[in-house]
Amino acid sequence: KRAFNFCAGPAALPEAVLQRAQAELLDWQGKGLSVMEMSHRSDEYVAIAEKAEQDLRDLLAIPSNYKVLFLQGGASQQFAEIPLNLLPEDGVADYVETGIWSKKSLEEARRFGNINVAASAKAYDYFAIPGQNEWALSKNAAYLHYASNETIGGLQFDWVPEVGDVPLVVDMSSDILSRPLDVSRFGLIYAGAQKNIGPSGLVVVIVREDLLGRARSICPTMLNYKIAADNGSMYNTPATFSWYLSGLVFEWLKKQGGVEAMEKLNKAKKDLLYGYIDKSDFYTNPIATNARSWMNVPFRLADERLDKAFLEGADARGLLNLKGHRSVGGMRASIYNAVGLDAVEALVAFMTEFEKEQG
Ligand code: PLP
Repeated sequence: KRAFNFCAGPAALPEAVLQRAQAELLDWQGKGLSVMEMSHRSDEYVAIAEKAEQDLRDLLAIPSNYKVLFLQGGASQQFAEIPLNLLPEDGVADYVETGIWSKKSLEEARRFGNINVAASAKAYDYFAIPGQNEWALSKNAAYLHYASNETIGGLQFDWVPEVGDVPLVVDMSSDILSRPLDVSRFGLIYAGAQKNIGPSGLVVVIVREDLLGRARSICPTMLNYKIAADNGSMYNTPATFSWYLSGLVFEWLKKQGGVEAMEKLNKAKKDLLYGYIDKSDFYTNPIATNARSWMNVPFRLADERLDKAFLEGADARGLLNLKGHRSVGGMRASIYNAVGLDAVEALVAFMTEFEKEQG
């Protein structure tokens, strides 16, 4: 029996996807070998890779002037790859800091050039996102970077910044595919796979074509978007199995009704969990209502001395990985696409029971 897994990442994957991967593991479609053992240049594998890309394009209605890249190094490698490709040596890039991930990305970018922190949620103790009227944007920014969902703090944008012609670059690692998205508003979208896409290590980059070919001369070949795009993300051997498994997730998502169906499901899940937390005096979530993450719900118990008992009780009921990130403590329930409403119902039932016993 599978547990309810609230891990922030690598996160729960749809059971049907894992079953299909298991069924195909030793013998992919009668070929007598595993996808892991195929040449990435074989017709079979190229078809797998192309189908995955097409399904992702369909799910997000990605316009034809965008390239979709399946790269390695996780989302963290993008923190360097973005300035190396998009920030001229004498240029400036704007960054909005709303938590640990956007801070990491701007600190890495500083190694490569002039970074302006246009806004920081620090002013609100990371409980709210500064409105755009509070941002100090540069005159000629090469791009503006932000993280649409801070996985650790549980802070999510429910709006898209308006920055005119400045390309918007967004880290969507923990909320891509969770609801519909207008790709045309962005210059570049990137997402580490290990939440709503597939296995870790892989990072998906969706980049507008006019942003290709601007890399600095020192940009390593493997980090150059244009080289990746010109080679179909196969300049070297790609993460073939992760790419294949992500393709199975995209197929599954389409069968569920796509991102519109995910939006309905994810809204029901977050409404149930935040609704319960807000009603209770025993659990709290401090985030401003309009900035609460649909994907990562941090919460605290009235008395942190009960944290251990809470986690042990949850574990015993098959509710796993609820411990908050080590940097913030408390609890965190990550409720990505593959975490069903039944999981959130089971969590709320346990939280109710625990509150009755200990509250
Ligand atoms: N950005 C966000 C929003 C994340 O949640 C994470 C990881 O959890 C990362 C970046 C880093 O991803 P990776 O571990 O793939 O480098």
